[in-house]
Amino acid sequence: MSDHFDALVVGGGLLGCATAWMLAREGASVLLAERDQINQHASGQNAGSLHFQLEYRMMEHGIEAAKKAAEAMPLHLEAATLWAQLPTLSGENFEVKQSGGLMVAENSAQAKLLEQKTEIERSWGLDVEMLDQAGVQKIAPYLSSSIVAAAHSPIEGKADTRTAAPALARAAVREGAEVRARCEVTAMERTGGQWRVTLQEGAATRQVTADAVVIAAGVWTTALGEMVGSSLPTIPLALTMTATLRVPKFIGHLIQHAGARLSLKQALDGNVLIGGGWPARLMQTAGGEPNLSARPELLRESLAGNANAALAVVPGLNGIPTLRSWVGTTTVAPDQLPLVGAVSGKPGMFVATGGSAFTLGPSFAQALAALVAGRAPDTDLSSFDPMRFQKVQS
Ligand SMILES: Cc1cc2nc3c(=O)[nH]c(=O)nc-3n(C[C@H](O)[C@H](O)[C@H](O)COP(=O)(O)OP(=O)(O)OC[C@H]3O[C@@H](n4cnc5c(N)ncnc54)[C@H](O)[C@@H]3O)c2cc1C
Repeated sequence: MSDHFDALVVGGGLLGCATAWMLAREGASVLLAERDQINQHASGQNAGSLHFQLEYRMMEHGIEAAKKAAEAMPLHLEAATLWAQLPTLSGENFEVKQSGGLMVAENSAQAKLLEQKTEIERSWGLDVEMLDQAGVQKIAPYLSSSIVAAAHSPIEGKADTRTAAPALARAAVREGAEVRARCEVTAMERTGGQWRVTLQEGAATRQVTADAVVIAAGVWTTALGEMVGSSLPTIPLALTMTATLRVPKFIGHLIQHAGARLSLKQALDGNVLIGGGWPARLMQTAGGEPNLSARPELLRESLAGNANAALAVVPGLNGIPTLRSWVGTTTVAPDQLPLVGAVSGKPGMFVATGGSAFTLGPSFAQALAALVAGRAPDTDLSSFDPMRFQKVQS
């Protein structure tokens, strides 16, 4: 085992695994340290939607908020291309299916909102078009006749959350990266032009050094920032998911809603996955802070609300039994845009998180790999500056 690396990646979710793989295939020596198991947290618990249209949560506060959220569109477009290539490039076989997505409207106000947001997205280069009721029924006859319009993007889809990050971790190892589970980063200190990092593996403490550190710690990003005295504000959100039993294929698209919390799609093996942002209850520490290590509480009203939203849009779900429901915790930034870039005042330290970071994981990873290598990323990251909230305060 080496004790010096070109890059240390903190976190073994989709982002950390993708970043470690991209760095290692460029020839960097990489250590990925994951405190729990690879893919144990949000990356293994999420809905697996690859959504490139603006989401309901980005539109529910009006069209100006939607315009702001659309600034992340270049990252979405990059992610759409990268997801399509990932299985081949990594030499791993995991499900990525981009068979199109429909954001549906059930009344004229929602249809108008869809038209407005479609215009914004098209101005950023997203392939998306409005369909009327007949157009919707033509390509998605399984949708309710209550759907009056939909925005269709042919590049949306889904990926298998159970297998994507572990596959990229394996690919990283094949490229020479060291990937350690049950390995917690407990301290980081800049000294002698490099990072000295303390790792806790069970009872054993290991010290390593690295030229660069990548924080890919999801909901724990703020805590990792605090470890080095940097403010990386994120808001934790506990969310609900449900999967039905396997049924013969009848849903061909990723479905989202313009006026309700809903995302649904049918996995390759037949289960219908239903989510879309219904809350669960975050646990609290004795001091009243969110306890990110405790499993959030499933809320009955979220399960019912999510099921009702799904049944209204896809009546064929009626009577299909639920296999399981679960909760997970993810993170958004205060302005809904991701944090991606350098941690200022901490040479060689980079971070990415926030929002739909499963969809965006590959483009975050590509940007981080470029930054670590000292190259300009393909996408202009200025809107995603991780330090932007500090600048507003000062
Ligand atoms: C229910 C739900 C549904 C969602 N649906 C979607 C969706 O459909 N599409 C989408 O794009 N996004 C979705 N998301 C969001 C998405 O899951 C996350 O944005 C994404 O998975 C974050 O990936 P990550 O690798 O950054 O973080 P994570 O997967 O959370 O990984 C971070 C890792 O860092 C590790 N870590 C933390 N601190 C340390 C430390 N000190 N030392 C070592 N390791 C550490 C953690 O143990 C963890 O494994 C959803 C989220 C949830 C909860």
